[in-house]
Amino acid sequence: PHALYGTERVNSQGLDLSDENTLRRLARVFLDAGSRPASIRETPAEKRRDAEMPIRNPANRDDLVGHIAFLDGSGIGNAIQRAEAAFPHWRDIPAAQRAAHLEKTADLLEAEMPSLMALIMREAGKTLANAVAEIREAVDFLRYYAAQARGPLQTATPLGPVACISPWNFPLAIFLGQVSAALAVGNTVLAKPAEETPLIAREAIRLLHESGIAQDVVQLIPGEGAAGAQLVNDPRITAVLFTGSTDVARLIQKQLAGRLNRDLTPVPLIAETGGQNALIVDSSALTEQVVTDVLASAFDSAGQRCSALRLLCVQEESADRLITMLEGAMRELRTGTPERPDTDVGPVISAEARAMIAEHIETLRQRGHRVYQTSLAPEAGTGTFIPPTLIEIDAVSDLRKEVFGPVLHVLRYRREDVAKVMEAINATGYALTFGIHSRIDDTIETLKRQSHAGNIYINRNLVGAVVGVQPFGGHGLSGTGPKAGGPLYLRRLLARRPALPAD
Ligand code: GLU
Repeated sequence: PHALYGTERVNSQGLDLSDENTLRRLARVFLDAGSRPASIRETPAEKRRDAEMPIRNPANRDDLVGHIAFLDGSGIGNAIQRAEAAFPHWRDIPAAQRAAHLEKTADLLEAEMPSLMALIMREAGKTLANAVAEIREAVDFLRYYAAQARGPLQTATPLGPVACISPWNFPLAIFLGQVSAALAVGNTVLAKPAEETPLIAREAIRLLHESGIAQDVVQLIPGEGAAGAQLVNDPRITAVLFTGSTDVARLIQKQLAGRLNRDLTPVPLIAETGGQNALIVDSSALTEQVVTDVLASAFDSAGQRCSALRLLCVQEESADRLITMLEGAMRELRTGTPERPDTDVGPVISAEARAMIAEHIETLRQRGHRVYQTSLAPEAGTGTFIPPTLIEIDAVSDLRKEVFGPVLHVLRYRREDVAKVMEAINATGYALTFGIHSRIDDTIETLKRQSHAGNIYINRNLVGAVVGVQPFGGHGLSGTGPKAGGPLYLRRLLARRPALPAD
């Protein structure tokens, strides 16, 4: 057993979606949730202000999920002041007590799982299975960081108010992952959710407060990009946790470089950004297994994971057979409303996202690349869907920017060129996930050594890193580290910290 990981912790179990009774119970909750707006818990005064920010269901633009008030500049300023005032109190609470609040929040999440799933599905367009996974991961983050904070870090000194800026693709898991990490070691938190998914974030904050954490210790900052920029630029913010695009991460880094914390140390930034994730499949690989793993890697979550597979590199001898099987399997995927338990691929997050992905597909088609695209289920009408798409390309350099959707690029390579392909993958500058499918140990060892990626997967899929078991994060254009859900993450959120047992 590794001292840094802890051995007694158990990951959240989720729900058994093959059980008819579970599905029936969920259906009842969803029906109920669908018939009332998610803003039900607001005060009447809030409701009046809120009318401007409607949140719509990406699978059905006519479905109004709820409203939320975006904070203006002075509202954000006040929140930071309250976070600063609340800091000494939260810092001085024993670590075990802070951990207990996070564990209580995890229990509340599990207790409210069906209604939270309903909201995640409506607001973010997640499938049933993805909604379960989302809550499990959020619970795991809470319990894992709580367990870490009870350990040797107990005596460490936190920083102060921390800005957490999170994405819409894991609107609960990454949101709570950042927030619980900052809280666990005694920082106060200003949590800015993605503008597309503030409602589930509001529920998460409600549960943190219900667990007994004071209002000012953790506050929601609903808003657009400008709200995040204001947080980053405020000298009272002592660290930034960011998950999102590489471009925004660079902007944040630039801003933070211009100032120091009060103890004259740089303002810590943990950024988790994009990827151009590749999988190399040689001719010894087991084709059936490759097909299963490619479907999960490229099309699960409608490809809207930073870990998702973007580039499949297939050794030419086995390429025709694999691509034929892959297209056959893609045809079996159901792309439609997440409310149906048999849906595999839900919508992409917005009309803007859909337009960008569609434009990318069109551009490659016009350049003469072969495109294979599946079709949508009949009910997909008013939603922002892109059916799973496969595009054959000629070189890694045909991939210019990260395309955040269910689009898989396929490159055929000659056996003698595998090192060059690996070099080109590294040359993209991204280094998040990477996969190898081979039954030759030498090939696996060589590619593993050459890859720069943060998470390398061998003979399996590339997505769904498990908290506390597979710490997740990359290098270069993909992020700063330390990895989320790993033993080093909390240490970046401290001013002074004890040495590692291994130091
Ligand atoms: N941790 C997730 C995974 O392993 C991806 C997180 C992200 O998309 O930001 O699939």
